[in-house]
Amino acid sequence: MREVKNYIDGEWTEGKSETIERYNPADQKELVATVAGSSVHDVNEAVFAAVKAKKKWAQTAAPERGAYLQKVAHLFEQYADELAELATKEMGKRFVETKGEVYRSAAILRYYAGEGLRRVGEVLPSFDAKNLFFTKRVPVGVVAVIAPWNFPLAIPIWKIAPALVYGNTVVFKPALEASATGARIVELFAEAGLPLGVLNFVVGRGSTIGDAIVEHKDVDAITFTGSNAIGSEIAKKAAARGAKYQLELGGKNPAIVLKDANIEFAARLVVEGAMKQTGQRCTATSRVFVEKEIIDVFRTHVMEQVRRIRVGNGMDEQVTMGPVVSKGQFETVQRYIHIGKQEGRLLIGGGASDDVGWYIEPTVFDSVSHRATIATEEIFGPVLSIVEASSIDEAIEMANDSIYGLSASLFTNDVSKALYFIEHIEAGMVQVNGETGGAEPQAPFGGMKQSSSGTREQGQAAIEFFTAYQTISIRPHPNM
Ligand code: NAP
Repeated sequence: MREVKNYIDGEWTEGKSETIERYNPADQKELVATVAGSSVHDVNEAVFAAVKAKKKWAQTAAPERGAYLQKVAHLFEQYADELAELATKEMGKRFVETKGEVYRSAAILRYYAGEGLRRVGEVLPSFDAKNLFFTKRVPVGVVAVIAPWNFPLAIPIWKIAPALVYGNTVVFKPALEASATGARIVELFAEAGLPLGVLNFVVGRGSTIGDAIVEHKDVDAITFTGSNAIGSEIAKKAAARGAKYQLELGGKNPAIVLKDANIEFAARLVVEGAMKQTGQRCTATSRVFVEKEIIDVFRTHVMEQVRRIRVGNGMDEQVTMGPVVSKGQFETVQRYIHIGKQEGRLLIGGGASDDVGWYIEPTVFDSVSHRATIATEEIFGPVLSIVEASSIDEAIEMANDSIYGLSASLFTNDVSKALYFIEHIEAGMVQVNGETGGAEPQAPFGGMKQSSSGTREQGQAAIEFFTAYQTISIRPHPNM
């Protein structure tokens, strides 16, 4: 059992708000962490520490800033099993999945360590021939990192690492369901010797401390990943005081399976896309549009794949799908399953058990209208809807009929159809013959429409949010 506290200006201090007990979602009897929730006063102290540290950190050479990230990457690998076990016990994802996330986080840290050696500006031509005219990327200042629980390691890292390497100081607030993992991440930065005040940590309910972070006059930028409901409130508050903000929000990601595709392969990847991480991925496949000529065969393969899934505690190697994260999520997913039974035909699954942990069966609905509630709202659980399509055009039209535009995939062996799909699908992340999830550290990540505020995370695209441009002119003395 871990005790989770604030980390402010290099000191671990007891949060001055409520104490919250966090139990293992796979086994409700196991107390995983006690969180001493931060108060508004703690948030103010954390921001003050970040403000105090920002000038010196901004003046630290970028390769030196990157060297801290290298050290943290090494520590992630050194403590891989321990980090993965903690994350699994805290939010329920399988150990193999959290362990993969540890290594992915190390790769992200190394990528951004490299950013400390890359260019941060360009020389421009000028109408004045003697003018040395150039741009320079400068830090934004104090960045608030507000993260969700579903990638408890990788999402904080893909925000904190670019923030730091580009010279910003940080106040990090993890989701309550990922508090202990968040604290462990911060411990590793401390172990790497990061200067005091550069990374600060507050913890607790967003409803208690969220506004204090978002509305703080000294927080220059907010990078947020989470739900659309909270994200849109953050956007309004940040815009009202002129702070920079970045939102990565929900998804309702479609897959399209055409009649020329390898149907068995498509069914395997669609089920993987829907059920991996218990469907709790913003990029999870939640709607699949299938050409009517192959829908019967596709359905049979989907059922075969789903029957292979073994639900249980993610620490057990035999288990292929863990619990959902919390009672709240358990109830939400069950509510959608109930709605789905009225809106479509339950093909497989639909059951749930809360005797030991928050377990829900992988569930697939068939004969669903693309306008049905279960085919339009983000469920964030192991639920897939199959929708019949008469052609690629109809499938794309139905896929695009959504407020979301995060990721989408197409299964086909026809390259012309793949190109047609890429041209017409409204999604930030597009896959052909791949599942809807998946990201690599060097590639921009994010969605279109209401899935994102428009900027991109990861890769070099991150520089757009975490820096501001300075445009500089240097002219010689008129006599020269
Ligand atoms: P959430 O409920 O919106 O919470 C996200 C974060 O916001 C948490 O740290 C939460 O703290 C905090 N928060 C809550 N109320 C706040 C407030 N008033 N002000 C400031 N912060 C506040 O989302 P979630 O349930 O953790 O994550 C699931 C959602 O994230 C899904 O919609 C999913 O699609 C989305 N997601 C998107 C991406 C992407 O890249 N597009 C990636 C992963 C997840 P508490 O934990 O205390 O509530």
